[in-house]
Amino acid sequence: MVHDTLSRPLASLRLSLTDRCNLRCRYCMPEEEYVWLPRTSILSFEEIQRLVRIFAGLGVTKVRLTGGEPLLRHDVPALVGLLARERRIADLALTTNGMLLAAQAGDLRAAGLQRVTVSLDTLRPERFEAYTRSKRHGDVLAGIAAARAAGFRPLKVNTVVVRGYNEDELADLIEFGRAHDAEIRFIEYMDVGGATRWSMDQVVSRREMLDALGRRYGAPRPLGAEGPAPAEEFALPDGTRFGIIASTTAPFCRACDRSRVTADGTWYLCLYAATGISLRDALRSGTTDEDVAGLIADTWTGRRDRGAEERVAVAGRGILYNVPSLRADPHREMHTRGG
Ligand code: SAM
Repeated sequence: MVHDTLSRPLASLRLSLTDRCNLRCRYCMPEEEYVWLPRTSILSFEEIQRLVRIFAGLGVTKVRLTGGEPLLRHDVPALVGLLARERRIADLALTTNGMLLAAQAGDLRAAGLQRVTVSLDTLRPERFEAYTRSKRHGDVLAGIAAARAAGFRPLKVNTVVVRGYNEDELADLIEFGRAHDAEIRFIEYMDVGGATRWSMDQVVSRREMLDALGRRYGAPRPLGAEGPAPAEEFALPDGTRFGIIASTTAPFCRACDRSRVTADGTWYLCLYAATGISLRDALRSGTTDEDVAGLIADTWTGRRDRGAEERVAVAGRGILYNVPSLRADPHREMHTRGG
């Protein structure tokens, strides 16, 4: 295992399969137009498989496929099949907006995918349309039902809570989770790249969420952090579990074992990091696996990033990047970097 300067292991990898998305969520992709990664730069499935093998050799045991919308990539079950052969990866998961999940859940499961997280911010189709510019709310619900039918358990649902949008739906989402055997994880609205409409007053804090749920159900009981995972777990008095990811008001950099590879093979050590390292160049220039592993290990050993904690310390916190700087380097976008 490789550790960084704060003794954090290189253990978890988020792989973005594409920077494209079929939704335009206001907190992630609010603009009319985007600069996309060049198609020739996108890693092939074989290149991704090779990278995962190299990372697994350095101690990575968890891989999450994300994006953009990962299921926009053609034949994701085939990639899952390749990655599932890597026995050192004990946890192979997918984060999706669910729009294309209904048709693929069974194949993904059969190919060896272990866990699915679906993003769902509202139970109201008209809100969904206003916030994502899509009328296909029903497809997301069908995707969740199909994932459950395919046997994904525990099924997790990610909800970004934004004041003035969905903060009045916390209890409704808990009830939805109960009815669909899914665990809801409420995420504080983050000032990541791409969130160009972000402001602190729209952030509903962990404290506020717990108070609101407490008024409805009785005080939630903390169950502790999920190891190095970002969510803190809670239980309602009747035992219903839910999670809160308080990345904005109470970040957890000290435990962060995650890094991210974009669809074009750029490796980021932190969601907030200004720059990344092109592993694609190494993969495509005849570098041996051992030398790519050496590059990764040396880089991780020097890691000092505490991006979310540093953001908390910023006085008068505002958006991270303006639109021209996002257009100048689309790697700064959350949808490129992989959430
Ligand atoms: N398209 C997939 C999805 O919707 O799950 C995967 C990529 S998406 C970028 C991953 C996660 O990031 C989603 O749960 C999304 O809600 C979250 N996300 C995007 N922008 C965010 C923001 N500004 N604050 C908090 N979470 C955000």
